[in-house]
Amino acid sequence: MENSIVKNENELKIGGVLATVLANEVYKATGIKPHKGLLNKPGDLDYNNIIIDELPLDYSILDEIEYKYPENNAYYGYMTRGCINKCSFCAVWKIEPTFNQYIS
Ligand code: SF4
Repeated sequence: MENSIVKNENELKIGGVLATVLANEVYKATGIKPHKGLLNKPGDLDYNNIIIDELPLDYSILDEIEYKYPENNAYYGYMTRGCINKCSFCAVWKIEPTFNQYIS
C-alpha cells in the first residue's frame, strides 16, 4: 500500500465500540478480526505490562493529519466507566457491565 501510515498492514488492528458490537460485520467488511472489548489488562495487544486503557489519550496523532481538530484546547478523560443498567439502545453495559467509580 503506497502512502500508507501503517508500517505493516498485518499489524493493523480494529477495536472500539463498533468493532465490539458489530464484530462479525467488521470482519466481513475488512477481513480483520476485531479486538472485542476493553484493553484493560497487561498484554491485551502486545507483550508488555502496559495497561493501554489507563494511558492518557495520544493527541500527537493529530499532528500527522491536515484536519484541524475543533476542540484542540480540550482534554478528555474518564471519571467513571461501565454501567449496571441495561438500556436496550446502549452499548456501554455490553462492553463494560461493571461500574467503576474512578480510574486514576
Ligand atoms: S444509556 Fe447506557 S450508560 Fe446510560 S444508564 Fe443506560 S445502559 Fe447505562
